[in-house]
Amino acid sequence: MLDIFSRIKYKIQSLVSMRLYILLLILIVGIVPMIVLTAGLISAYRSRALSLRVSEVQQYGSFIINRFFSNGALMNTEDTSVDDELSLMASIYGGRIIVVNQDLTVVRDTYGQETGKILIAQDVVRCLKNNSGSFVNRSGQYGEVTMPVASQDSDTAQGVLVITFTLRNIDSMTRVLNQKATVYIIIIILAVGVIALIGSKLIARPLNVMNKTLSHLSEGYLDEEVSFTGYSEIKKISDSFNRLISRMKSLESSRQEFVSNVSHELKTPITSMKVLADSLLTQENVPAETYREFLTDINEEVERENKIINDLLSLVKLDKSVGEVHVEEVNINELLEGILKRLNPIAQKRGIEMVFESFRPVTAEVDEVKLSLAISNLIENAIKYNVDDGWVRVSLNADHKYFYVKVSDSGIGIPDEAQGLIFERFYRVDKARTRETGGTGLGLSIARNAVMLHKGAIKVYSKENEGTTFTVRIPLSYIP
Ligand code: ADP
Repeated sequence: MLDIFSRIKYKIQSLVSMRLYILLLILIVGIVPMIVLTAGLISAYRSRALSLRVSEVQQYGSFIINRFFSNGALMNTEDTSVDDELSLMASIYGGRIIVVNQDLTVVRDTYGQETGKILIAQDVVRCLKNNSGSFVNRSGQYGEVTMPVASQDSDTAQGVLVITFTLRNIDSMTRVLNQKATVYIIIIILAVGVIALIGSKLIARPLNVMNKTLSHLSEGYLDEEVSFTGYSEIKKISDSFNRLISRMKSLESSRQEFVSNVSHELKTPITSMKVLADSLLTQENVPAETYREFLTDINEEVERENKIINDLLSLVKLDKSVGEVHVEEVNINELLEGILKRLNPIAQKRGIEMVFESFRPVTAEVDEVKLSLAISNLIENAIKYNVDDGWVRVSLNADHKYFYVKVSDSGIGIPDEAQGLIFERFYRVDKARTRETGGTGLGLSIARNAVMLHKGAIKVYSKENEGTTFTVRIPLSYIP
């Protein structure tokens, strides 16, 4: 049951396609204006033909009144000479002529039925009263013109001339026109329909090709370049896709590199431990001191492994899509003082002097844990890669938008060619030396990611054998 519903839903969704919209658009634009125009033209024709017929009938009416009223013949029932003229006119217009006097008595009727009777019709009474004529469209088939019977210089009407005339010929003409228009409209609808079907298929074709190519890509054929042809918009989409694909490829290769680096880094301590353990196991009568010495080495390797794993976890947590950011108002002076206090014993061991210089009190919206991690790594490096009895200087400053932390040292410095690489994961300038100092090559990556998470910037200035300065710039208000 559910399956049928989902199938119907899918069918409806696939019907609401761009092709359907184009089809409807062409049909509407092609057909609706034509129907409106035809209907408008036919109705204009009808009203024009009607007004022509009315003015023609009125002219005849005036002619009759002028000719037969002034000599008294029109209202004189005895005079039959008028009847012929009236009958002729009535037959020309396919209608009837009635003459009513002031008492509303019918004095003449071309049908001869109403003579002598009283005719009380609204428009007749009005015509007599107002001394003005009017036209009424009776029941669609007949029109009626009423005209006051009066001499040209008189204000009061002596009677009313009622001329009824047929509208059938106008109606039949309109009907013929309507029929012809309908035939043409049907032919045009069919033609526009065919054009719309073909046109919409042609317009939608590049999109269908694009869809096929992209489905092919999503199956994993990322090595192929896409090239859509058609409109300039589609070409732009294919360029964007190629950029996206090359970005995905570079992400994929950096991911693979990272995984292989991680495995390598994690394997190194394990290999050392294995070598140490094996050499103990293969020797006989090993003195207790050798055991102690080797186990101390194994312990160091375990610690190193632990450090790498912790650093990797910190790095993963700094990934925006995985970790959460806990932003709060933090006193940066206190934060830096805390870090320096914590690291001071390590510095003192090598006679390194630590100086904190604050230009102003700074509070900022930051994630305290993540920012501490970044700054700690910088200061730890400044101690690790320093000379004995050297110095580390940390300074804090701010303007209206950012605060700036500067970590300078009197250490060994970083060679120019390595300065662009030190933020890469696992990169170490001197592998042997960092092993001694316990570096994992992840510290600066962690620092950079934490700074990036705060929409800040980190830069390095260094000269070999003179010292290194890292500057960090972070916005005072957190930018999500
Ligand atoms: P590590 O854990 O090895 O210290 P980092 O990512 O923190 O890794 O640093 C990468 C490399 O950059 C280090 O191995 C070191 O060679 C160099 N480096 C970092 N900070 C300094 C510094 N203050 N002085 C000299 N070299 C440094």
